[in-house]
Amino acid sequence: MKHLYTLAIFALFLGSCAETPKSKAPDLLFVNGNFFTADSLNPQATAVAILGDRILAVGKEEDLKKLADKNTQIIDLQGAFAMPGFIEGHGHFNGLGMSLQNLNLINTKSWAEITGMVAEKIKSAKPGEWIEGRGWHQEKWSESPGATVNGYPFHYDLSAASPNNPVVLYHASGHGLMANAKAIELAGISSETSDPIGGRIVRDSRGKLTGVFEENAMGLIEKPFLAWKNLRPEAEQIAAFEKATLLAAKECLANGITSFQDAGSNFWELDQYRRMAEAGQLPIRLWAMASQPAAHDLPKLAKYPQIGLGNQHFTCRALKCYFDGALGSYGAWLLAPYDDKPGFVGQNTTPLDTVVRMAQACSEYGLQLCVHAIGDRANREVLNVVEKEMATKKDHRWRIEHAQHIDPQDIPRFEQLGVIASMQAIHCTSDAPFVVKRLGAERARTGAYAWRSILDSGAHLANGTDAPVEAVDPLPCLYASVTRRRADTGLEFFTEQKMTREEALRSYTIWNSWAAFEEKEKGSLTPGKLADIVVLSKDLLRCAPEEILQARVLKTVVGGKLKYQAEKK
Ligand SMILES: [Zn+2]
Repeated sequence: MKHLYTLAIFALFLGSCAETPKSKAPDLLFVNGNFFTADSLNPQATAVAILGDRILAVGKEEDLKKLADKNTQIIDLQGAFAMPGFIEGHGHFNGLGMSLQNLNLINTKSWAEITGMVAEKIKSAKPGEWIEGRGWHQEKWSESPGATVNGYPFHYDLSAASPNNPVVLYHASGHGLMANAKAIELAGISSETSDPIGGRIVRDSRGKLTGVFEENAMGLIEKPFLAWKNLRPEAEQIAAFEKATLLAAKECLANGITSFQDAGSNFWELDQYRRMAEAGQLPIRLWAMASQPAAHDLPKLAKYPQIGLGNQHFTCRALKCYFDGALGSYGAWLLAPYDDKPGFVGQNTTPLDTVVRMAQACSEYGLQLCVHAIGDRANREVLNVVEKEMATKKDHRWRIEHAQHIDPQDIPRFEQLGVIASMQAIHCTSDAPFVVKRLGAERARTGAYAWRSILDSGAHLANGTDAPVEAVDPLPCLYASVTRRRADTGLEFFTEQKMTREEALRSYTIWNSWAAFEEKEKGSLTPGKLADIVVLSKDLLRCAPEEILQARVLKTVVGGKLKYQAEKK
């Protein structure tokens, strides 16, 4: 037992160097806790001792109290459940921060509600200011928006709500957006504009624009939007970035998240995160993927990997590519056509040879390749790329982000090729109302969100929320992992693919650290690792499933420092 071994060393130390025991006494000692450690050698404990930013010892309260001296701060957890801090396995950190400032449409129930929110926001907008929102989903509306194309409304009500300010409202999936007439005008788009490769300007049967732009067509609207953003002086841009970063960090800490895996930032953003981390301004630990650079920028990857900077607050050792779109917007690239869109197999958003080049760059620079793949065709193609590029290399920990719908024949290949399935359990229950419509029952049953089959095959899994696509709160995601049931309607999605309670907790801690080559630093409460801990009001290992959703984060500790404390009820 590792912990006993550690204690034995300290006992020896205390016995043999009686004059300097103080130097090894913990700064902080949590006692009277109900710890799940995620360390299979020592799964449960009642106390954890911390020295500096690391865990000193994990074990029984009576043993650990012997390590304390008069300077040790002792915190009584009063029997509360505690575990390693949550690690978000796939989210968009800056996007999360921005979403906290922009219109948050995640909980909107109708198109009228959305246009009403925009009208309200316009009242305080400056002339020419772009209005940004995110999170709408036409499948979640409880009333009809009037005439639709593929379920999408036309932009008219939105354009009426904001005739002078351009508006861009991102779909919940992040793979489509709705623009108003002003934004369409600034982008120079008319009904004659043709679809870009890998994207679609959604129109009705007469060619009239709906205002919806899918996949690569989003770039047409984003061009004037980014130009407006980039026109601001650099100091203003940096201030806005820092504000979003700190908002995202605060939101994470309130949700018990101590580390966040960012699924794609550009070089400028990576430089800002690094600078903030090294200045001690990043309150949580960030592990980032560099967004796929343009071909001429590939040599910039030579600056990476950057590992453990700012005292383990910033790492970039991965590269992110997008290979297809999302299922909700028919963007997932499938082997056979959609059930509810005959003849259509989705969208391949990045040419295969580009992904191959990115894979080669990852080999060259020692980076993890992380490819967004949702449909079974996209997943198969990525597995083929890994098979070719990594034939002789083991333990590369390349990842498929989402790995959402996989042909059953390809499931064993994750383990065989050493590819991590980086999944988001919460998407399963969020998407449940439309997956069978899109894929048909058989494909949905055998290959959609098939985390049980993936785990049983021996492959590694990561878990997360894709925030701000979903709320960053890990608890609904853990609930989805172990129930595959929607909390609101009770709708269940092929429950034979559930995780066990312990698997779910591991997926959010030690498995996510493994997916980032960080399992020696974090992910379990083990002596020597970083002292990142979350304390909760419910025992997530043993409470009734519904109680997972009622749990509250009581404390969040990063590197032995209390970074969030719930207000007393
Ligand atoms: Zn994502």
